[in-house]
Amino acid sequence: MVLFAMLFVMGVLPMLIQGRLLLTSLSKSQIETRILDIQNQALILSNRLTQSGYLGSEVTDTVLDSQMDVLADVFNGRIVVVNEDYRIIRDTFRLAEGKYHVSEEVIRCFRGETSSEYNSGKHYIIETFPIYSQGSDGEIDGVLLVTASTASILNLMDVVGEKITMFEVMALIVIIAAIFLAVRLYLQPVYAFRRWLGKIAQGDAETIRVEDYRELQEMSESVSQSFAKLREVDNSRQEFVSNVSHELKTPITSIRVLADSLMSMEDAPVELYREFMNDISDEIDRESKIIDDLLTLVKMDKSAAQVMNISQVNVGALLELILKRIRPIAKKRNVELTLETIREVTAEVDEVKMSQAFTNLVENAVKYNREDGWVRVVLDADHKFFTVKVADSGIGIPEEFQTRIFERFYRVDKARSRETGGTGLGLAITRNIIQMHRGTIQVQSTEGEGTVFTVRIPLTYISQKEVPGGK
Ligand code: ADP
Repeated sequence: MVLFAMLFVMGVLPMLIQGRLLLTSLSKSQIETRILDIQNQALILSNRLTQSGYLGSEVTDTVLDSQMDVLADVFNGRIVVVNEDYRIIRDTFRLAEGKYHVSEEVIRCFRGETSSEYNSGKHYIIETFPIYSQGSDGEIDGVLLVTASTASILNLMDVVGEKITMFEVMALIVIIAAIFLAVRLYLQPVYAFRRWLGKIAQGDAETIRVEDYRELQEMSESVSQSFAKLREVDNSRQEFVSNVSHELKTPITSIRVLADSLMSMEDAPVELYREFMNDISDEIDRESKIIDDLLTLVKMDKSAAQVMNISQVNVGALLELILKRIRPIAKKRNVELTLETIREVTAEVDEVKMSQAFTNLVENAVKYNREDGWVRVVLDADHKFFTVKVADSGIGIPEEFQTRIFERFYRVDKARSRETGGTGLGLAITRNIIQMHRGTIQVQSTEGEGTVFTVRIPLTYISQKEVPGGK
């Protein structure tokens, strides 16, 4: 609609203005020619009057009189002759003969100044011309007053104006029709684009192809991309859900098998009951651990900025505490756990989350280790970041799995992970926490030799809002 109005104003306004301008300039030039015309005719007349000695003669000059009548007729006006005494000796209207005519322009004319005046309100032109004496001394004997009506010009202007208006109306219709068609034509691809969007929304189409304008083409490409991304997210969500159900079902299946086999046995010894109940209890623990981990993950996915609880944390002390907690487990397998602090670090982090992230790493380093192995945790910092290295002498991770271990529920060796009570969510949680602190995590590993996880985190917390495009 705005487009329509804009085109309309641009197309029509100049036309209207030009029409009016044309009309005024035409009427001006018409009046100018009329004035010139009168001047010519009056000059000729005044010469004749001079030559014939009209002013001095007592007898009426019928030829000149009728000539004046004709001329007055032609101009649709009046011709008046005034003599030296300001007396009117000739009036083509025959109304004022014998009367005196003392007016400013007549007086001026006796002084030699001709005048010409256009009265636009009453639509007439009035001009004065001197009538010279017969002698060659250039004396002025009388004044010729010519009045001419401009009504005919006005009529002409009316006719022309009417024509112009008619033309304008016609042009207006044509312009409106043309603009209407152009706008429709221009909007056609936009409508097509909208139809595509509707189809996609209903699931009838997957991509948009509108190629009429480059802008639309680019737009349709980015819309297609966004839809593809949405589908990807949807797929990964579905995969996640099916993974979750599978993972949750596994312990329940075990519990069921254990319970069923107990029940199918008649007079099973108490020891067997105890053993099976023990296993069932383990499975329940596992189930609740999976649920806990899942809840942790889901909580972090939701508006992450709100759940951050940032404070100044002594990272060395935090690591020390974590190692102290894990040491009993490490001792069982005779794994040596050490912390090396190259530089003391105080950083703005969420203490609980950071603790969970590092606990996961150290726990993994112990879990996927060998008997009598070692785990070394090294803390260092530069002026902007602190780094924590968790190195172990464990089984290592084959190169092809190194990128996948951060996926939810991904485990290199399902059986071993189950044995150690892993859920496959630990590293996913760890990476999430590190990303919430705008940090990075990297893994280097050689199969059979060991693994090093390197975490790098800014010393000062950068809130999500400050990061353009941060989600
Ligand atoms: P899990 O609960 O199974 O430990 P994680 O997400 O913590 O799940 O780890 C995913 C997988 O990555 C593990 O199952 C294991 O195969 C591998 N992994 C993690 N840490 C180590 C490590 N330090 N050494 C060898 N393998 C590891």
